[in-house]
Amino acid sequence: MSRVWNFSAGPAALPEEVLRQAADEMLDWHGSGMGVMEMSHRGKEFTAIAAQAEADLRELLAVPANYRILFMQGGAIAENAIIPMNLMGDRRVADYVVTGSWSQKSQKEARKYAEVNIAASSEAGGFKTVPAMAEWKLSADPAYVFTCTNETIGGLEYPFEPDLAQIGRAEVPVVADMSSHILSRAIDVSKYGLIFGGAQKNIGPAGLTIVIVREDLLGHAMPHCPTAFDFRTVADNGSMYNTPPTYGIYIAGLVFQWLKRQGGVAAIEAQNVAKAKLLYDFLDASDFYENRIEPACRSRMNVPFFLKDEALNDAFLAESKAAGLVQLKGHKSVGGMRASIYNAMPLAGVQALVDFLRDFAARRG
Ligand SMILES: *Cc1c(COP(=O)(O)O)cnc(C)c1O
Repeated sequence: MSRVWNFSAGPAALPEEVLRQAADEMLDWHGSGMGVMEMSHRGKEFTAIAAQAEADLRELLAVPANYRILFMQGGAIAENAIIPMNLMGDRRVADYVVTGSWSQKSQKEARKYAEVNIAASSEAGGFKTVPAMAEWKLSADPAYVFTCTNETIGGLEYPFEPDLAQIGRAEVPVVADMSSHILSRAIDVSKYGLIFGGAQKNIGPAGLTIVIVREDLLGHAMPHCPTAFDFRTVADNGSMYNTPPTYGIYIAGLVFQWLKRQGGVAAIEAQNVAKAKLLYDFLDASDFYENRIEPACRSRMNVPFFLKDEALNDAFLAESKAAGLVQLKGHKSVGGMRASIYNAMPLAGVQALVDFLRDFAARRG
């Protein structure tokens, strides 16, 4: 067996320890004589797995008691509809901060359910920065302010937490799509009304969506909201109104345990800072490659970069693959390259990438 350094944006690499444990437990979970995929979601074995996963996530992110953790399906893209269907209540307008492809998609979808006010956007400058909160123009009475705190495609991350108290609007709930950086850095959950993310970037397999929602935001769903997507129903049924993605919850739980063994979110954040610094410092010092995002807003998780001579792109991808470094091609809407370096990517993987980048530039520069 030989494993590659996998820089996929998602579904993405998982910690090898987790994959080994899952392999060991595939046929017989803890002496039950069953694999996790074969268990009833209502049986005592799976109920314990789900409860432990939830408790570990709550501990890792220090989720306050007045927030519910929901295990849902449909991915972050389905949440773009599910969120307005649940949070609009009697209000007419929802505010969106647009910083790249994902928040753009979110505001477009929301228009089916709400009047959308673009409170701020960095589109005019090509999504290279996150607009400072002082520039956000909130509407008079929005149901919420939507943010995407890490733009996976553009490689842009909020350098601050969107704390509306700083602009005197603490009463408005902040919604944050954290799909691609949840658990990569410490956050203050109490600053948000709702946090969500698909699992396949930084947590586990595709098919599981995590929602962390403040209790007062439950119970306001539109009458036509599908019952299985009504946050109140999901919460009241412990995420088991319909059959949840059981295997995804199990793997996510193993990842949470792995994160705790690493020392928790603060420890993994320190590693993520070191990994990102290694890569960005190399790119900045090079006259062969470049990253185009404003330095303060560069993502620690998703690092897009360009070869200054784009005629070398195909050779770069072929040679990096041959060297065991895969999935480096940039998103088609951006071009160039992108290295996603989520929690599961060790410093050694980033070092291997930097060594390759240096070697390729020396041979082709
Ligand atoms: C990947 C991603 C999505 C889309 O997730 P799906 O699981 O495909 O619905 C949305 N938002 C962000 C920030 C992402 O990284």
